Amino acid sequence: MADGRIRRLDGTLANQIAAGEVIERPASILKELLENSLDAGATRIRIQLEGGGMDLLSVEDDGIGIPPEDLSLALERHATSKVATWEDLQAIHTMGFRGEALPAIASVSRLELLSRARGQNQAARLQVTGGVATPAEVAARAPGTTVRVADLFFNVPARRKFLRGPGAELSRNQKVLRQIALAHFPVTFQLVQNGRTLTQFPAATDADDRAARVAAVLGEGFLANALHIEQEDRGYALHGWLGLPTYNRARGDEQYFFVNGRPIRDAVIGHALRAAYADVLFQDRHPLYVLYLTLPPERVDVNVHPAKAEVRFRDGRELHDFLFHTLRRVIAGQGGVHPQVAVP
Ligand code: ADP
Ligand code: MG
Repeated sequence: MADGRIRRLDGTLANQIAAGEVIERPASILKELLENSLDAGATRIRIQLEGGGMDLLSVEDDGIGIPPEDLSLALERHATSKVATWEDLQAIHTMGFRGEALPAIASVSRLELLSRARGQNQAARLQVTGGVATPAEVAARAPGTTVRVADLFFNVPARRKFLRGPGAELSRNQKVLRQIALAHFPVTFQLVQNGRTLTQFPAATDADDRAARVAAVLGEGFLANALHIEQEDRGYALHGWLGLPTYNRARGDEQYFFVNGRPIRDAVIGHALRAAYADVLFQDRHPLYVLYLTLPPERVDVNVHPAKAEVRFRDGRELHDFLFHTLRRVIAGQGGVHPQVAVP
């Protein structure tokens, strides 16, 4: 093999390499599938798990669906309905855009794609095992899409060894769902494992519903111990809830920060938050927060991380100043509204 000759990787192998970056565990699949459902305009999404998602992970939506003639294309690398030009890439309005998730997932699992496009009277179904697809066949389904992912990493046992037990994988899936649910209030979400409903987020359309969802995620005590924040400056808008310094945790696991609707971890943001709380919190304690930053899409590059968990800001310094000063003012008791008045 090592004869120095250059060979083109076969498609499945190329997808498995891509999967190495994006598909680490069931929760990474769940994130990608939920993003696809949301991009498809779904209003109801149902997640089914078996074995924490390792044996089965399925996501079912009522979105726009996939036309039958495009079904097999959805599983090809770099095939996407979301971007077509360089200009599109400069201002991404969808969660997905890389056209990589489905082929990557399909290369390391047994995947079934079942979809009925709105306006079609039939659904179509396709099965892929380790990257090899069956031809699409006619099927029955209400408009929308179901993606079923079974036997994750059955063909890459080395990757399967890195998974934890079903309980640990389940809780990572639940974490992904909580994050996404906080960014998509109007959507109904249900998570079922082995036939039992574990999480249910009804559509949150008014302020009370939204507050209920926030309380369901961060705990009943959070909103009574949080400052509501709503601030705009120089094209940046920040809203959400900032936990009082007195309502802190030993671990920073109840911190949610969204950039244009995407859960993001970012050094600039992290620094601004730590600096804003620095004077009022012991160093080993962590605040709780749910914050939504909105900025023009051309001011943030979302195409820097395969799983889209990181972004690059065009002007990190300016953003840092905006965040730090806004948060600091609210924490210092000027400009925050307590208790919550309006829920975004
Ligand atoms: P991307 O989301 O980056 O476009 P994916 O591999 O995740 O790439 O999906 C490929 C394509 O399959 C999408 O662009 C979309 O057209 C279609 N698709 C995937 N999931 C769904 C869904 N739940 N509903 C409708 N279309 C979908
Ligand atoms: Mg996608």
